[in-house]
Order: sequence, then C-alpha cells, then structure tokens
Amino acid sequence: MSDTMYLCVTCGTQYPAEDAPPARCVICEDERQYVNRQGQQWTTLSQLHGAHTNTLTEQAPGVTSIATTPKVGIGQRAYLLQTPQGNLLWDCLAYLDEATIAEIQRLGGLAAIAISHPHFYTTMADWSHAFGGVPIYIHADNRAWVMRPDPVIHYFTDESIEPLPGLRVLRLGGHFPGSAALHWPDAAEGAGALFTGDTISIAADPRWVTFMYSFPNSIPLGPRAIRRIVAGVEPLAFARLYDGWDELAGDARGAVLRSAERYLAHILEA
Ligand SMILES: [Zn+2]
Ligand SMILES: [Zn+2]
Repeated sequence: MSDTMYLCVTCGTQYPAEDAPPARCVICEDERQYVNRQGQQWTTLSQLHGAHTNTLTEQAPGVTSIATTPKVGIGQRAYLLQTPQGNLLWDCLAYLDEATIAEIQRLGGLAAIAISHPHFYTTMADWSHAFGGVPIYIHADNRAWVMRPDPVIHYFTDESIEPLPGLRVLRLGGHFPGSAALHWPDAAEGAGALFTGDTISIAADPRWVTFMYSFPNSIPLGPRAIRRIVAGVEPLAFARLYDGWDELAGDARGAVLRSAERYLAHILEA
C-alpha cells in the first residue's frame, strides 16, 4: 500500500506520492465539497491503519455494503456485488487494510471496479492493485477530477457500458457531468436494483429521493439535469435503490419518478 501518498482528511481523496503534502485538495476546493473549517489537513493510509475497521454487511443476496468505522473522509459506503460472472466493487472507500482484502478474497475477490463520481475515487488505484490490477471504470467526462492517474483506470465515453455481464453502468450526469449509476436487473430476485452514488440521493424521509449539484453547500440541480436523470432511469426496472449511505426498498423506481416531479414543481414555481 502507498505509504507516501497523502489523503485529504475531509474527502479521502488520495494524491500521488510526494515528499510533502499537496498545497490544496482540488476536490474539496470545488463547490460540491468544502475545505474543513480547521483548514486543509492530510493523512496517509499507514497513519490510519489500526485506528479504523471496514465492516462488510450483507444488505441483500449478492449485495454487501462496505463501510469504515470510525468514518474516513465523507463516510460513504461501497458495495460488493457478487454475480455469477464475478464480483464488482461499486464505488470506493478511502480506507483499505489487509483484513478487508482477505474478507473480499473470501467472498470471491474482485473482477472489476466501477465508480459513480469523484467523491468516491479516494484510494481506488490501491483497491485495484490489491486485487491484481482489475479495471476501474469511470466516465471520461470526470477525468479532470482523477487526482492519482493509473493505467488500471478505463475512461468510458459511451452513455452506458457493461463492466461485467449482467451489470450496466449508465452515465446520468447531474451532480458531475460524468456521474453514473449502476443497474443490476437480476438483483432483488429479479425486481432489479439501482446503485446511484450521489446522482440520486435518498432523502431523510426514505420514501423520497433528491437530486443535488452540491450536497454540503445545498446547491440544487436545474430542470434540464433532473429531466435527463429521469429519462435515464425511467426505462429501467428496479425495486431497490442504494445510494452511498442508505437504501430504499419497495417501489424505488416509483419513488424516483415521484420525487423528480415534486422537485421540478418546487424549482419551476413562478
Ligand atoms: Zn479533499
Ligand atoms: Zn458527491
């Protein structure tokens, strides 16, 4: 693991090896994030080792969440998706240790990684290297936010790709131009599941979702972006929705469509 690579404390983004920490975190200085009130702070994976644990929790058959306690960066969770064609890691976490690698190996290892958007890029290259250099799929429109480039990263330009047979990654845009979601039609006993990162976010009332340009700074998305997201997910069947923190069970597709209508009604009000 990369001991000399600095991680931003606030967002968990890893930067290439340097003798001194970078001057600034590009991800945090963007208006979709924020610099901690204490100022820019840095750590490394080796400094974090021993003080954190990754917990794997089976959320549903074939869907295992991975979360770090105490939290690192923005405290999101990633998902290990186990399919007959191999395992995919959807989204990523900054914290990685030998125990996590062993646990994922026990569950069949990884065949590929796909990541919704830059707030989850974190230590993605380390995750790939820990599993034999499996490909990481990222939409090319988010390339400028990759702080640690690596040959394992594949930038796709199509509107959707199949990283493994039976799994589809769709660029929906919105939060970031290359923001993507993953659709797994066979999940939830064939009712389907959608994994959305921050593209579609579960609201405090879990019957609803929301759509934001910036979550920490409460900057909404405009109608064109909302309609584009709706157009992307409307043709899909999914009973469950998993964002980076939570899950919405039941009629997840209906919840997304109703929420988009409600949102548009508010922002278009004269
Ligand atoms: Zn940062
Ligand atoms: Zn985000």
